[in-house]
Amino acid sequence: MGVPTLGCGCPVCTSTDPRDRRLRPSVLLRWHEPGQPRERVVVIDTGPDFREQALRNGLTRVDAVFYTHSHADHIMGMDDLRPLSFTVFREGGPIPLYASAEAAKVLERIYDYTFSPHSTYPTRARVQLEPLADRTLVHGVEFLRIPLLHGDLEIAGFRFGSAAYLTDVSAIPESSFALLEDLDTLIVSALRHQPHPSHATVAQATAWAKRIGARQTWLTHIAHELGHEETNRTLPENIRLAYDGLSLPVNLEPVNR
Ligand SMILES: [Zn+2]
Ligand SMILES: [Zn+2]
Repeated sequence: MGVPTLGCGCPVCTSTDPRDRRLRPSVLLRWHEPGQPRERVVVIDTGPDFREQALRNGLTRVDAVFYTHSHADHIMGMDDLRPLSFTVFREGGPIPLYASAEAAKVLERIYDYTFSPHSTYPTRARVQLEPLADRTLVHGVEFLRIPLLHGDLEIAGFRFGSAAYLTDVSAIPESSFALLEDLDTLIVSALRHQPHPSHATVAQATAWAKRIGARQTWLTHIAHELGHEETNRTLPENIRLAYDGLSLPVNLEPVNR
């Protein structure tokens, strides 16, 4: 819902700590491909705050988008790819949007004017839905799909090099833990302390973090029940609440597994 949450006057929603102001979750990955003049940029999820996040982070291009699932807080900024997509399109084609069959169906329905072959809307986003494979190579960087559950819905997490991003997760299938070995950085969602049918609690996410054993774990997709400072005080040293604008180095060497 974002924090402050509309209509709420709780201590977190009225906090003056900038880390208690939370836009909807997303990840931006930038790297330089050897021998290429321009940087490569991948975004995971374009939620309703995508435009604001792109402005805050000086985003001038997007080479590919990966979608975790089709809920509004993860897709409703797709149309704001339009201006960036025109440049990418002139360079060589539409921006690939990697999405599961389920997510693609919702995107096609909501953005009919973009994806319909009958669309006559001239300035539609130059984007193309691509099936989400177990492994996807984007300009030399491999993205592994990590199967997860979000309530009853099968969704995707992603691993890139020594980092993984698992948002909106309520259960991690046993087979997915094998894809999460030897991580430096784990980003995993933890909504609040109180149980929720389709999101992990802080205790659940902390237990996964300990099992996965990444050097550092960041909790994301945080609701207004969790104040930044007070929650961090209760967490183990290598588990912290993420915050908007958090920037981390990531080793993008391919994963051999
Ligand atoms: Zn609140
Ligand atoms: Zn969500």
